[in-house]
Amino acid sequence: METVDCIIVGAGVSGLVAAARMAQAGRRVLVLEAAPRVGGCIYSWRLNDEIKANEAGADFWLELGAHTAYNSYSQLLEALQARGRLDDLLPREKMGYSFVAADNTLHSPLKRLNFFQAAFSLPFGIRKPKPGLSVAEWFGGLLGRGNYRNLLGPAFAAVLSQPADSFPAEWLFRRKPRMQAAPRKYTFPGGLQGLLEALAEGADFELRKQTVVSAVSRDATGYQLQTSSGPLACRQLILAVPVDAAAVLLADVLPDVARELQTFPMSSSEALGVVLPASKTRITAVAGLIGVDDDFFSVVTRDPVPHATLRGFTFHFKPGRLGQDAKLARIASVLGVTPADFLHVRGNINRLPSPGVEHPKRVAAIDVKLTREPLALVGNYLNGLSIGDCAERAATETARLLAL
Ligand SMILES: Cc1cc2nc3c(=O)[nH]c(=O)nc-3n(C[C@H](O)[C@H](O)[C@H](O)COP(=O)(O)OP(=O)(O)OC[C@H]3O[C@@H](n4cnc5c(N)ncnc54)[C@H](O)[C@@H]3O)c2cc1C
Repeated sequence: METVDCIIVGAGVSGLVAAARMAQAGRRVLVLEAAPRVGGCIYSWRLNDEIKANEAGADFWLELGAHTAYNSYSQLLEALQARGRLDDLLPREKMGYSFVAADNTLHSPLKRLNFFQAAFSLPFGIRKPKPGLSVAEWFGGLLGRGNYRNLLGPAFAAVLSQPADSFPAEWLFRRKPRMQAAPRKYTFPGGLQGLLEALAEGADFELRKQTVVSAVSRDATGYQLQTSSGPLACRQLILAVPVDAAAVLLADVLPDVARELQTFPMSSSEALGVVLPASKTRITAVAGLIGVDDDFFSVVTRDPVPHATLRGFTFHFKPGRLGQDAKLARIASVLGVTPADFLHVRGNINRLPSPGVEHPKRVAAIDVKLTREPLALVGNYLNGLSIGDCAERAATETARLLAL
């Protein structure tokens, strides 16, 4: 059986940052990815996938998943720097978010802020420690319950593509050092997925796409994997897959951890991206829109990386509410156009963890069980949802494996 030092299952940001670090330390690394592309939640829809390379707009892309990375994502940027691609980062223009009212008018977040309530709550709220409190409790205490209901609650739901009220407050807004050599907010040519492709291109690890790992077993020499292209073996294993997939793969090797992971809740949202001629919609340039009591959590635009002739909008719809035609009609009404104006349309289902307040403690208990295992769990259910949180977890867990 083909055997390597380390197999990494999943080529999202967690898996690719882990792969870069293990390979840098001289390990022979194999990354297995079920999909035909890298990126996972980072999915840049490129028009040249569906129109001829020389047609107008073939250079256009739109994010159907994650859209913005920051210069506080140190471990991600270090991996990119090691590939010599830091200079390729594409700065995102500074732009705000607007709320969408029921009549489709847009208004600034400040219009929803009750200043008196905020001024009254802030001195007490700011002192409270975050651990053990939910987002609704901590941020409601910070700016007042009314401000949470009208402003922060919908804004956080827009960022997380799900209601954020029960999230652990300690997972949001952690201060991290910034890499000054990188733009504050950035993407990459071809979209954020291009950044992950840059990590994989010509790397000193091997990546096999369209390879699904279905089962893992263990003996004294290491791990054996059943994959869609045959069995493989490794001495160390890194699972960089969503939590429900990790629970399935761990069932035989660490059954108690697998049972614990099975209880971690997940959420989903339905992205629908539309591309239209820039001249069609009069909507002002904006980074995104926030829905309140609407069928969508948020809208993410291409405006911070403007294109000469096209504009693109990805609506992140609440799951199971609207069919495709109703979604297109809702998008058209927000943008003030008709569905016939859309040149290209593409959908994508996104899935994310939905951690509760006790979540960080549960992860800490799992980490204790993994201390001496030649197996690491990395991903967005362990340390925070952001790309930077995933990269950070990948860095700490690869350091643990390398030290074993
Ligand atoms: C709509 C949306 C918007 C977001 N916006 C932002 C943002 O702007 N900024 C930000 O910082 N974060 C954002 N996030 C969060 C962030 O993108 C994700 O948390 C992060 O990318 C997750 O990376 P990951 O590698 O841990 O997991 P994933 O990206 O889920 O990757 C897991 C990979 O494992 C593969 N896989 C699964 N099972 C198997 C198997 N059995 N065999 C082989 N391969 C398998 C999958 O195909 C996938 O490629 C957003 C997320 C979503 C959904």
